Amino acid sequence: MPELPEVEVVRRGLERWVGGRTVADVEVLHPRAIRRHLAGAEDFALGLKGHRFGAPMRRGKYLWLPLADSDTSVLAHLGMSGQLLVKTQQTPDEKHLRIRVRFTDELGGAAPDAAGTELRFVDQRTFGGLSLHENTPDGLPDVIAHIARDPLDPLFDDEAFHQALRRSRSTIKRALLNQSLISGVGNIYADEALWRARLHYERPTATFTRPRTAELLGHARDVMNEALAVGGTSFDSLYVNVNGESGYFDRSLDAYGREDEPCRRCGTPMRRRPWMNRSSYFCPRCQRPPRLS
Ligand SMILES: [Zn+2]
Repeated sequence: MPELPEVEVVRRGLERWVGGRTVADVEVLHPRAIRRHLAGAEDFALGLKGHRFGAPMRRGKYLWLPLADSDTSVLAHLGMSGQLLVKTQQTPDEKHLRIRVRFTDELGGAAPDAAGTELRFVDQRTFGGLSLHENTPDGLPDVIAHIARDPLDPLFDDEAFHQALRRSRSTIKRALLNQSLISGVGNIYADEALWRARLHYERPTATFTRPRTAELLGHARDVMNEALAVGGTSFDSLYVNVNGESGYFDRSLDAYGREDEPCRRCGTPMRRRPWMNRSSYFCPRCQRPPRLS
């Protein structure tokens, strides 16, 4: 699954290539890609046609394109393999092309070299898709109204997050992945932030002090901003891409995927443990498990 930095790179690419452009027509090539739009493919296409895209928005891992002249938004579900590509109209269709959005010649706020391009949703495994939703008064698609702000959001409330940690009878990695407490921190960046903060993933949240919460949030922000800085160099091409499997940040990871490799801080071999149908990577020396009471 793509995480926040990958989705933000896609958002920036969309802003450059499709923000401000007006939809000429929509072609749905596979019904599964539109299954979350319950009214069907024709209704989806009609809902977009003639409307102008506003600036693409993101909250956590959720990405949406508001329609500037209506109170609706197109929500992108990237799933495991979904990609949003911007291609010239002459580019041959991808094998797994699911949805095509063509634009009028008017560029709106998009870059001049966006002329003659179209937006394609390509998805090999068809877990992803696009859907059209009413906005909440805050401008969020209604189906993601419950998603908390992410730590890179200027309006994220550190104190409220700390209080929520103290109240919840949870463990820290569960809390970091709870999208109603904090959004955008997935398995990879949770392991990275916990390694940097020298915290074991099973540490009870009720034991967190304010400085400890602040330190962990700081590490989570650093690791995501570093990933963004790396990804930010490649989005300025005629290719808006997201693919969680082939993340560009792999080489700079300190914890995730490093089983049996030496901890970059103390040299102890890193460990992997099964965790909620996923894995947790940690250093057994730097990140001591909590004592059982
Ligand atoms: Zn270590």
